[in-house]
Amino acid sequence: MTAIETRQALPLDTAALDELRGSFRGELLLPTSPGYDTARRTWNGAIDRRPACIARCTGVADVVAAVRFARDHDLEIAVRGGGHNVAGTAVCDDGLVIDVSGMRAVWVDPAGRTAWVQGGALWGDVDHETQAHGLATTGGIVSHTGVAGVTLGGGIGFLMRKHGLVVDNLLAAEVVTAEGSIVRASADDHPDLFWALRGGGGNFGVVTSFRFALHPLGPTVMAGPVFWAADDTTDVLRFYRDFIADAPDELGTVVRLGTVPPLPDIPEDLHWRPAIAVNCCYAGAVEDGERSVRALRGFGRPLVDLLAPSPYVAFQSGIDATVLHGWHYRWKSTNLTGLSDETIALIADHAYAAGSPRSCVVMFHFGGAVVRAPREATAYAGRDVAHNIVIEGVWLPDESGEHAAAETAWAQQFLQALEPHRAGSVYVNFLDSDDDSSRVREAYGDRIYRRLAEVKAKYDPDNAFHHNKNIKPRLTPARTAHEAWSR
Ligand SMILES: Cc1cc2nc3c(=O)[nH]c(=O)nc-3n(C[C@H](O)[C@H](O)[C@H](O)COP(=O)(O)OP(=O)(O)OC[C@H]3O[C@@H](n4cnc5c(N)ncnc54)[C@H](O)[C@@H]3O)c2cc1C
Repeated sequence: MTAIETRQALPLDTAALDELRGSFRGELLLPTSPGYDTARRTWNGAIDRRPACIARCTGVADVVAAVRFARDHDLEIAVRGGGHNVAGTAVCDDGLVIDVSGMRAVWVDPAGRTAWVQGGALWGDVDHETQAHGLATTGGIVSHTGVAGVTLGGGIGFLMRKHGLVVDNLLAAEVVTAEGSIVRASADDHPDLFWALRGGGGNFGVVTSFRFALHPLGPTVMAGPVFWAADDTTDVLRFYRDFIADAPDELGTVVRLGTVPPLPDIPEDLHWRPAIAVNCCYAGAVEDGERSVRALRGFGRPLVDLLAPSPYVAFQSGIDATVLHGWHYRWKSTNLTGLSDETIALIADHAYAAGSPRSCVVMFHFGGAVVRAPREATAYAGRDVAHNIVIEGVWLPDESGEHAAAETAWAQQFLQALEPHRAGSVYVNFLDSDDDSSRVREAYGDRIYRRLAEVKAKYDPDNAFHHNKNIKPRLTPARTAHEAWSR
């Protein structure tokens, strides 16, 4: 183990905290503070970590103060944006959580078609503000997910085939580095850092705001899911494979296999029935969208068809209630090269074998602008894959350890079965806490990982930001020798 991995959490004494209070305007929550237990919770209720202090930042100066304080006191650091990462990396044991979740402002420049978004915003905040101007950018498919984590890992969503990944729309970021300096990263300013932020995760500093490119959209779009009975899965997936082969870039689709969720628009007698759904969003004129999805809607005998002209903002929060905060989750994920008959048969065999009606499988379709973007421009590695699949084991907080074990085993066995069909890469943002560092390398591949490690060595040589999908700094031989002597 190297010096950078042996950081200890020191007890935070009153004098030390007073020092932080002097330069910090937000709340500092200690284990004895009211609100501490709520503030340490993440979206995944299975995560139970107890930081020494949660620093709820109100602005960039607070972030600077918190980073400097943590470095001066050699504290473990976790950075919290939306708090949605399934691995729960937004919260650490014993150390300092730099919590930017209160910083959620969005400023739209409608003439320039750009927006500045603060580092704690959720996708619902971005969609709400940008749609007021008839604009949008690629974002996550659940409105309560954090902008920061999604963006820093790459960012996939319904608009990506038309407008690229979230990182393809990132124009600049304001970052507080491990030294506590404020830097602007863009194509012209710290371009190495800007490259690394676009896929390399939270390894390079705390992002206090992002600047995104926006595109005209909606406010009404042709969007929504069509559900078929689980028994039809093989036929639906074979049809879907041919359907998306000719789909225009405007059409983004996400397949969900599991049960029909108990959403208000769905007749009650269908709730919890095993089913496959294809959720669509057409990023263009409603009439063109109607034409583009006609064949899909006409296929077989749908259980229910909710694909209709809808406000984009409403569509983007349509499945929020199917992935509630506080449920317990374990995810397994991989990229897929395509949907062969064999892959489809495997998916159909495993998808409905979970014990919980809340467990499900979600599959994103790539292609379009994602593939066309220049490979060297960003640190996102998985552009050439056809699909990404996430196997989501879910159990409720009051369900026993047996449920946890069963849903976890289901997800792991499903992933194993997919082994021969994997694209050899994974989306870093879907890795869980039991995915080891080899899967972080898998996410990037050797070449991108090495380049990220070099940028990491420049901006965070001590690996202060390591409570994440960690890129180890690639230190020069001189620096490594110095560390060996100073230990
Ligand atoms: C219900 C659900 C739906 C999802 N849908 C999508 C989707 O459609 N598309 C997609 O691409 N991904 C999706 N994801 C995965 C998502 O990309 C990750 O969970 C992501 O980490 C969430 O971002 P967050 O800000 O909420 O993360 P957090 O849990 O707050 O943070 C995760 C990590 O990101 C880093 N981080 C967070 N904030 C900052 C910051 N301000 N500065 C620097 N580093 C920071 C830290 O390293 C932190 O450990 C989804 C996840 C969930 C749970």
